[in-house]
Amino acid sequence: MYYLARIHEMTASDRLQKRLTKIVCTLGPACFSPDQLEGLVKSGMNVARLNLTHASAKKQLPIVHLVKEIRSKHPIGVGILLDVRCAQVRTGVVEKPIMIAKGQEVCFGVEKLRKESEKHAFVNVDYPAFGKDVRKAEILLLDNGEMSFDIVSISKSGLVKAKARQDGTIGSRRHVNMPGADISLPTFTDADWEDIETAAEEGVDFLAISFIRTGKDIADVQAFLRKKKSPIRVMAKIETRQAVANFKDILRESDAIMVARGDLGAELPFEQVPVIQDEIVAQCRAAGKPVVVATHMLESMIEHPLPTRAEVTDVAHAATIRTDTTMLSGETASGRHPLVAVDAMDRILRATEQHLREVDGQDMPAVTSDVEARAQSAVLLARSVGASAIVVMTKSGKSAEAISKFRPMIPIIAITDDETIWSQLSLHYGVSSLLCSFKGELEDSVIRGMKEAVGAGLLGEGDEVVLVTGTEITGGSVISIQAREVR
Ligand code: PEP
Repeated sequence: MYYLARIHEMTASDRLQKRLTKIVCTLGPACFSPDQLEGLVKSGMNVARLNLTHASAKKQLPIVHLVKEIRSKHPIGVGILLDVRCAQVRTGVVEKPIMIAKGQEVCFGVEKLRKESEKHAFVNVDYPAFGKDVRKAEILLLDNGEMSFDIVSISKSGLVKAKARQDGTIGSRRHVNMPGADISLPTFTDADWEDIETAAEEGVDFLAISFIRTGKDIADVQAFLRKKKSPIRVMAKIETRQAVANFKDILRESDAIMVARGDLGAELPFEQVPVIQDEIVAQCRAAGKPVVVATHMLESMIEHPLPTRAEVTDVAHAATIRTDTTMLSGETASGRHPLVAVDAMDRILRATEQHLREVDGQDMPAVTSDVEARAQSAVLLARSVGASAIVVMTKSGKSAEAISKFRPMIPIIAITDDETIWSQLSLHYGVSSLLCSFKGELEDSVIRGMKEAVGAGLLGEGDEVVLVTGTEITGGSVISIQAREVR
C-alpha cells in the first residue's frame, strides 16, 4: 500500500528526477550514423557496447573513434565497451538457409561426416570435439533456443542425429548451445587476443569477456592488460553453467559482471535465470563491483514502438534489485526504434527509482575498507541533511565507486581530472562524472567542479550537497565530508 499511495503523489518535479540506474546500448547498423549516436547519448545511453562476434575490434575502430568524438562534446562521461566473442560453437557457412520441418531428423557434425548423414539434412559444426563433448547434452539449441532439437543418436564417429522441435531455417554461422555439455574448446582464440590487444592500444573503457568458465579465464585477461599497462576494466559475462558454479572466483578476478541472460537461459533451464540474476546482483553489490543485467529487456521494441508490460516490469525489477546497469541489445543495434527504446528504458527506471525505499538496516552492505567507511558516512549525512546530491572530488574514481556501493537515492557527482576515470565511472549506479582540472588549491577545484555540475544541469544554485574531498598532506591525506550549499 505504501507504493500505491506514493504513486498518486507523483509530481512534475518527480518526473525530472535524475536517473540512477545506468543504460548500456549495443551499437549496430540501426544507430551507426553520427546523428543517431548523438541521439543515443541525448536519450540516456551511458555506455556504448560493440559486439565483436560479427566483426573484429580493428574493423569496428571507426565507430569507436566516432563515439569518442561525440562523447567529448558532452560533459558527463560515456563509456565504451567491447564485447569479446571467445569460444563459441557455431554452425558452418551455407550457400542458402536450410529449411527444417518440425519432426525432421537432421545430422550435425564436423564436415568430414557429411557423407555419413546420407539422406538427412546435414549441418556442419566446425569444432573437432563436438561429437565427443555433445554426449552429455540431451538437446541442441540454435541462437539461444530460436530452434531446438532433441538428440536421437550419436554415432561412434560423432555424427549427431537430432529431431527438430519446430519448423525453421538454419542460416550461416548460427550459435549452438549444448546444455549440460562441457565444451572443451579453449576460452580464447588468436582472434580474441588480437581484439584484446587492439582494445588496449586504442584505449576503450571496458572489455566484456564471453563464455568464460573460471576465474582463471578473467585472470589471464587481467595479466595480459597489466603487461600492456592498460587500465581497461574487465567484465565477466556469466552465461555458462560452469561460470555460475565458479561465480565467487570469477567475481574476485573481475572488475564488473554481466548477467548475460540470453545464453544463460539456453545453457541452463530458463526458469533458473531470474533467481541466478538476483543472486549475482546481490553478490556484486556486496562486493562493490558494478553489475549489468542484459538481454531481452525490451526485445519487442526491435519491431514495436511500445514495450510489452512484462518487459516494463522486467526493467523495473532490475531497478528494484538496484543493479548498476541495464542493457539494450538488438533494440538499439538493429531495431526499428533505437531512440524510443532508450527513452522507454530511461522512463521505466526513473519511474521505479522514485518509489524505492532507502537502503537501510540489514540491506546496507558491509563496510570492508576505510574508503567505504567514509563513503557510507557521506551517504548517511546526505540522507540526514536532505542533500540533493553527493559531490566527490576523485582522482582514482575509488571514492565515487565506494559511495555508489551504498546506493544513495540522490546523484553522485564525481569530479575527476582523469579522462579514463571520467568515462569508466559511466557504469556505476548513480554516478555522473565530470572532467575538471585539479590545478591550484583544492577549494579552487571544488568551485570549478561545482560550476561544471551546474552547467551540466546536475545541480542548481542554492542546492544543499554533501561534498567529499581529500587533501594531500605529508605522509598521507585527510578526507573531509561537509554539507554545503551550491553558490
Ligand atoms: C547474452 O547471451 O545474453 C549476451 C549478452 O551475449 P551476446 O549478446 O554476446 O550473445
